[in-house]
Amino acid sequence: MKLFTDSLHKIAYATDASVYREIPYGVAYPETEEDVRELMRVAREKGVDLIPRAGGTSLAGQVVGSGIVVDISKHWNKIVEINVEERWARVQPGVVRDELNIALKPYGLFFSPETSTSNRCCIGGMFGNNSCGTHSLVYGSTRHHVIAAKGILTDGTVEEFKDYTIKELEERFGETFWKKEQHDSLIEKIYAQLIGFAVDEKTRKLISENYPDKELNRRSCGYAIDETIDTCINLCKLLAGSEGTLAFITEITVSLDPLPPKEIMVVCGHCDTLEKSFEANLVALKHHPTAIELMDGDILQLSKGNVEQQRNRFFVDGDPAALLITELRAENREELDKKAEELERDLLTTGADKYENMSLQTAGAVKRSGLIYKCTRVYGSDVAKVWNLRKAGLGILGGMKGDAKPMGVIEDTAVAPSRLPAYMKDFRQLLDQLGAKCVFYGHISTGELHLRPILNLKTKEGRTLFRKLAKETALLVKKHRGSISGEHGDGRLRGEFIPLLYGEETYELMRQVKQCWDPDGLLNRHKIVDTLPMDSMLRFDEDQQYAVEKIIGTDKTYFNWKAAFDECDAPGATGAKSQTHALMCTIEQCNGAGDCRKSNIIGGTMCPAYKVSGDELKTTRARTNVLREVLTHVGAGPVPARCQWSMIKEVLDSCLACKGCKSECPSNVDMTRLRAEMLQHYYDRHGTSLRSWLVARTTQLEDLCQHIRPLYNFFVTFKPTASLIKKTIGFADERELPRLQKKPATVLHGSTQGTVLHGSTQGEKVWLFLDEFTRNHEPELAEIFISLLSSLGYNVSIPKHTESGRAAISKGCLKRAKKIASQNVKLLKNVVTDQQPLVGLEPSCILSFRDEYPDLVPADLRHEAKTLGCNSLLFDEFLLREIKAGRISRENFDQSPIEIFLHGHCHQKALVGVEVMAEVLRTLLNAKVNVIPSGCCGMAGSFGYEKEHYKTSLEIGEMVLFPTIRKAIPSPLTSQSSPLTLVAAPGTSCRQQILDGTGVKAVHPIEILYTFMK
Ligand SMILES: Cc1cc2nc3c(=O)[nH]c(=O)nc-3n(C[C@H](O)[C@H](O)[C@H](O)COP(=O)(O)OP(=O)(O)OC[C@H]3O[C@@H](n4cnc5c(N)ncnc54)[C@H](O)[C@@H]3O)c2cc1C
Ligand code: SF4
Ligand code: SF4
Repeated sequence: MKLFTDSLHKIAYATDASVYREIPYGVAYPETEEDVRELMRVAREKGVDLIPRAGGTSLAGQVVGSGIVVDISKHWNKIVEINVEERWARVQPGVVRDELNIALKPYGLFFSPETSTSNRCCIGGMFGNNSCGTHSLVYGSTRHHVIAAKGILTDGTVEEFKDYTIKELEERFGETFWKKEQHDSLIEKIYAQLIGFAVDEKTRKLISENYPDKELNRRSCGYAIDETIDTCINLCKLLAGSEGTLAFITEITVSLDPLPPKEIMVVCGHCDTLEKSFEANLVALKHHPTAIELMDGDILQLSKGNVEQQRNRFFVDGDPAALLITELRAENREELDKKAEELERDLLTTGADKYENMSLQTAGAVKRSGLIYKCTRVYGSDVAKVWNLRKAGLGILGGMKGDAKPMGVIEDTAVAPSRLPAYMKDFRQLLDQLGAKCVFYGHISTGELHLRPILNLKTKEGRTLFRKLAKETALLVKKHRGSISGEHGDGRLRGEFIPLLYGEETYELMRQVKQCWDPDGLLNRHKIVDTLPMDSMLRFDEDQQYAVEKIIGTDKTYFNWKAAFDECDAPGATGAKSQTHALMCTIEQCNGAGDCRKSNIIGGTMCPAYKVSGDELKTTRARTNVLREVLTHVGAGPVPARCQWSMIKEVLDSCLACKGCKSECPSNVDMTRLRAEMLQHYYDRHGTSLRSWLVARTTQLEDLCQHIRPLYNFFVTFKPTASLIKKTIGFADERELPRLQKKPATVLHGSTQGTVLHGSTQGEKVWLFLDEFTRNHEPELAEIFISLLSSLGYNVSIPKHTESGRAAISKGCLKRAKKIASQNVKLLKNVVTDQQPLVGLEPSCILSFRDEYPDLVPADLRHEAKTLGCNSLLFDEFLLREIKAGRISRENFDQSPIEIFLHGHCHQKALVGVEVMAEVLRTLLNAKVNVIPSGCCGMAGSFGYEKEHYKTSLEIGEMVLFPTIRKAIPSPLTSQSSPLTLVAAPGTSCRQQILDGTGVKAVHPIEILYTFMK
């Protein structure tokens, strides 16, 4: 096992999802218990500690430190055993929570504790933090579900932890062993200490008087000594929430629950004040819900700006001050509706007298009354969208534009629900006193609210408030007998306030526990006890300075990063001072929440290279961490000046520019764009590589070669010459170079002037964007499009335009891309309108108009570029628009049955969604459309052609895409049986990748529509 001490690893592991940053000594990925023992030996020798780490999604800095970060997620991720009869599962600590539940589903069972991060956090991390979430009202926390665990103690011995009576322990260690002065082993000493606590009246009294209210069913603050010694001695209870400070866990046995009743519904109560939601929660609790969650108006407002979450807001009516979302479950729909009616009646009427004077008129002139003024219901599979929106809350907050951020500092307080209205009253007074603002959301049913004050940690005032809020809130929590951590744990953030909450004497017990288990501070030092000041080692400095201008050698950027900040009107957004400041703030939008660590079992596009390797260094998070670190610290930190650019290059090399992050990252980190910006600055300093130069100019070169097309095609297809070309460029020999096609007369040039090509001049006018890939390689697609639309009565023309610049953007040749973007905007701004849209066939090309152009063109063209972008449509968006307007219908198409396996282009998925295409096909044809749950195909423009990326490219295809296609079309060469089964993909590269990977010729969806045209 290797210990990585290079800068790249250290930087990638210097943060988690918290505000802390500390460069570790090194990083290791153990595979065996012996590896951990070896790491313990090395750590002792070097005088550092081991920091066990799973998904690295902790919010309080649990996995940030100066020691060796031991990432168990890479190799320790097997489900060892599932016992259906006894309802338990034995897993390695790196198993992802949702992946375990996918494996359990066929047995009708599941592991019930959950987190908002459940699709990438691991059972080991959940155990370490005693995690729980939305359904803790019914299922409790991880501590309640760990039956047994296996782990390595700091003396290197392996121990099985579970529930033991004192008698059983005496059988193992000898009668009254716990009274002995000296012990024969560490484990004996550990048990002796806890039995000592259990039998000592004074200690029991201390614990019962100082630990939180028993009514509170969630807490992750300090060591749970009370629960450990409650009836028997159960070390699992103590280890849950111990944050890797006591033992290194290697296996966990968890109890399972039967899957909840099938029928599900959420009642979304709209409140006109936040206070009402706290009281409405108590009303809703009487109706036996399975969960109640809160989202305040500020978060709802922010979700409007998040590409993915816009699709999940369908149930929100207007702009409520808060949404109280109550989940109900039942065996059938009737029972569910009955429950909902009773709940809604109660919510809509309770408090009507009290709030009579506060009633307002809404825009729709509805008289508001009661605690809730409106309820919307969401049923069945749509409920997941509601929870998705709620879960994304924290990530979305990270996307707030500017230096101020909704800060995790008091985000995890919990009090008994009955105490919540009083606690919130005190808390809001505190906010007023301190002049602070806060967003509110969370698991309100169990009294847990994620309070996120908006703070700017780059200022002295922001940092002072950071500390003050933490301390004053801890005092309020103590007053209401709650916990400062309900689920996120203490880490480096809250440890300082444990003595304040529990009292010095109880805290001393906790210190004794740590001392007993880990006398030399070998495991996760300075967490829970003896923590460093909560405002040390923060990600940002006071009066933050950046090295960015020094490194890129200019204060100018190629993209207009500042515009998004200037135009952001979300509450709390602070704007940006300059382009480089905006660039840095964009990078800082990554809060480490780790959505980019989702595996292919979970699905999605982001982040393909991580999905095939399980390597943290290939996540979007690692890329932003490296960019932030290198561009922030001038000559300081772990990056030697000579390595700055090589590190940037290395970490960007595995990015496919698929834009998965643009929509799937809750903070909308757009690595495709960051990558392009940084590559152009790199070329400015180091020159452009031949390959990038050529790829960015492919269209120009191909246009030139049209004159010698036969010769060109000979050279790119004749094996020896083709191999030589590929070798020179750095393309994989296994790939075939695309041939040039003869341009048909109808689409002869792209194009010198807008010419009416087909159809009646009376019909609706449509402009076809004849992208460079279609023009040079598949011109028949353009012909098909024109014929199809002409037959449907449209008047199709190709306006004068140039290439899209997609290849230049993807290779980071932004100087060239800027010129192309400006040229196109100038050529098309007075031509294309809402009524006469520009329609494209190749998603990546046409979507450049909408996505990149407004930020590439000069400021005086921005407005026009944005308007043009809005009127530039993918052909499926256009068709759906026309279907909805009643201008195209299935009457125009043959209704013979067909089955289509549809693979969406990743840019299409990120910006539009593949469902639009599927809907068009389903509406117009008698088609069974199966959207392939694939992410990126792996080709990603030239990525899959590149020699060093060829293998990864195919591996990405092999995750979901290729196997699905092979299953759908087992023998590509034989003729199709009835019904006709086809694979459709609108992306040129995707079709090539499918052919190379499976031998199946995928078609463009427009070809299918054309074939079925009556
Ligand atoms: C957006 C967002 C939302 C969140 N929502 C929730 C929520 O709803 N509920 C909730 O409870 N938490 C939530 N969290 C916090 C976090 O995701 C959870 O605590 C999660 O369980 C941590 O899991 P992980 O795999 O990322 O663990 P990590 O962060 O890697 O580790 C967690 C702790 O476990 C320890 N640990 C890990 N592996 C081992 C091992 N093998 N042996 C010993 N110790 C080990 C670590 O040292 C650390 O102290 C949220 C975080 C984010 C960013
Ligand atoms: S890149 Fe996005 S998804 Fe990944 S950790 Fe950062 S914020 Fe989260
Ligand atoms: S663009 Fe794609 S490959 Fe690159 S960081 Fe984003 S999700 Fe990952």
